[in-house]
Amino acid sequence: MVLGQLGGSISRALQQMSNATIIDEKVLNDCLNEITRALLQADVQFKLVRDMQTNIKKIVNLDDLAAGHNKRRIIQQAIFNELCKMLDPGKPSFTPKKGKTSIVMFVGLQGSGKTTTCTKYAYYHQKKGWKPALVCADTFRAGAFDQLKQNATKAKIPFYGSYMESDPVKIAAEGVERFKKENCDLIIVDTSGRHKQEAALFEEMRQVSEATKPDLVIFVMDGSIGQAAFDQAQAFKKIVSVGAVIVTKMDGHAKGGGALSAVAATKSPVIFLGTGEHMDEFEVFDVKPFVSRLLG
Ligand code: GDP
Repeated sequence: MVLGQLGGSISRALQQMSNATIIDEKVLNDCLNEITRALLQADVQFKLVRDMQTNIKKIVNLDDLAAGHNKRRIIQQAIFNELCKMLDPGKPSFTPKKGKTSIVMFVGLQGSGKTTTCTKYAYYHQKKGWKPALVCADTFRAGAFDQLKQNATKAKIPFYGSYMESDPVKIAAEGVERFKKENCDLIIVDTSGRHKQEAALFEEMRQVSEATKPDLVIFVMDGSIGQAAFDQAQAFKKIVSVGAVIVTKMDGHAKGGGALSAVAATKSPVIFLGTGEHMDEFEVFDVKPFVSRLLG
């Protein structure tokens, strides 16, 4: 049972509570405060933690706790369920269908792992018999096209880009057109990033989106960005219709609590996790192990 994996400070908080002879509101509050600290350390946004606390208090009935022997179980279950619920935006993301052309646009700040993730996503589908293709619409970062070209060549995935053309919108549109003609069923458009969220980046994203008409826009975020996740995700969502999230660098120390913020800000589910620099270090997102790690 996944609950058994609840670790560290959460377990300690629950232990302290079960040692208390009387379970009153203060004991429950102390316990929730301890859990709050753990979740904040895991980069979960303060507002989300507060909402969770409020919901737990509504769900957990103090009389039940005082009477029953399963105090810890009741609270553990409530916390676990709340966090799972927060990762579920209530509707699945658009899922491309093999054999039918889909255009998937990737957005995110520079360094988030966008280019790497585009190739991972293409490679993942290629292994399952799809015919993916990569379009490099990042003319801002020097070396972006070379990086995509290198990755794509390694994975034997067709790619499109230009060293000469400086208009990302033109490249994106041309690339998509070419691969449509070649009957590729998954056309992936890698876009530019900037270090900061700035007007020029968002205008470019809007134009690329308008020119390519993506079936799905994926927001890529670095799992270690912490409390910045909400604003970042929301800023992209305002400009393009983000429909899914991929969290990268989950092989590091970060617990990835920012993912909850990205889900809340974009109302879209997390679909994959990046777990390393290599092409195959890519996992389909699974809510329960993710929440266990968050609490651990
Ligand atoms: P972009 O600027 O958003 O396109 O980011 P890149 O794809 O160039 O990635 C930035 C850096 O992060 C590179 O050094 C990648 O190898 C690295 N990176 C990307 N995804 C992961 C991941 O899941 N785990 C680790 N450890 N590194 C990653």
